[in-house]
Amino acid sequence: MIQYKLLTPGPLTTTESVKKVMMEDHCTWDDDYKQITQKIRKNLLKLAHVSEEDYTVVLMQGSGSFGVESVLTSVVGEEDKLLIVANGAYGERMTDIADHAKLSYAVYRVDYDQVPSAQKVEEILKGDPAITHVAMVHSETTSGILNDIASVSKVVKAAGKTMIVDAMSSFAGVDIQVEELGIDFLISSANKCIQGVPGFSLILCNRKKLIESQGKARSLSLDLYDQWETMEKDGKWRFTSPTHTVLAFAKAMEELEEEGGIQARSKRYYDNNRLLIQKMKELGIRTYIGEEHQGPIITTFFYPEHCNFSFQEMYEYIKERGYAIYPGKVTDADTFRIGNIGEIYEEDILKLCGIFKSFFDKMR
Ligand SMILES: *Cc1c(COP(=O)(O)O)cnc(C)c1O
Repeated sequence: MIQYKLLTPGPLTTTESVKKVMMEDHCTWDDDYKQITQKIRKNLLKLAHVSEEDYTVVLMQGSGSFGVESVLTSVVGEEDKLLIVANGAYGERMTDIADHAKLSYAVYRVDYDQVPSAQKVEEILKGDPAITHVAMVHSETTSGILNDIASVSKVVKAAGKTMIVDAMSSFAGVDIQVEELGIDFLISSANKCIQGVPGFSLILCNRKKLIESQGKARSLSLDLYDQWETMEKDGKWRFTSPTHTVLAFAKAMEELEEEGGIQARSKRYYDNNRLLIQKMKELGIRTYIGEEHQGPIITTFFYPEHCNFSFQEMYEYIKERGYAIYPGKVTDADTFRIGNIGEIYEEDILKLCGIFKSFFDKMR
């Protein structure tokens, strides 16, 4: 089997040391194990810049979407109405979740290469007082755009509504002042910027709003309040916990600290992302998102002009040389994507761009 590094935005390439801690089996009701869960929850509060008094953390089995579904279906009650802000596939997934759970909701849609406007959100809230909650994606992994959660949160708070952010692919890769921004629920997962392996999602919750949600959940397994109530006691997960993933995550959090915290990690991601864009530009490859809104996590590139090849051909060529890239996901153009989160360094970006150059030369 060919070994390759992942240039996909989760799962991503993890360190040997993170993988190694999964060699141990742990008992789920053992005190040492429960302490690991508690330590993770405490450290996540720090990474989010929130106080333990006002915020708490729930870990939920499953991939990131399970976390988003857990929040939407647990906190938006029968009498409530949700406004979903969507400029990509992950925003659209929230509408899908809302449909399945029969939530009352409205959608504010924006083109995939544009950021949603806070002013427009403000107008929608004014025009529809029934709306109680607003949900949006921070880093839309579909395109790579980084949405302005600060300005949207501000108008949502001013209107007295609950703010929900899917920060799946940005949390810990981009610094987010969760409490200062007034975000009530923020969702991320184990296999994104904290650089763990897949298996659970994490939810930063405003304590008061979480407690208010008791009894509203439409699902048993994804009941956010119930999961929290059990976990808050002593770190026990309500149902079988993804033990190996939890160990890997605890190790990944230590390594984030060793790297220099979010600041250092964010700088590495930004530097590598900007280097990648620069090098691709030299090859005549343009980005789908304009520089102002391009995030540091993943980049959508247009296919070069006058080249005739399939994504599969390009993918195989690059994979044979040690890297896995991602197909495009925007619907209005021929594109491919490159993620640069995980154990990816400047040398990888330079090597990758060399591989692209030889591939395009061959195809021209
Ligand atoms: C990764 C991701 C998710 C979750 O996707 P899963 O496949 O369920 O892990 C949700 N939102 C965004 C923005 C993401 O990048």
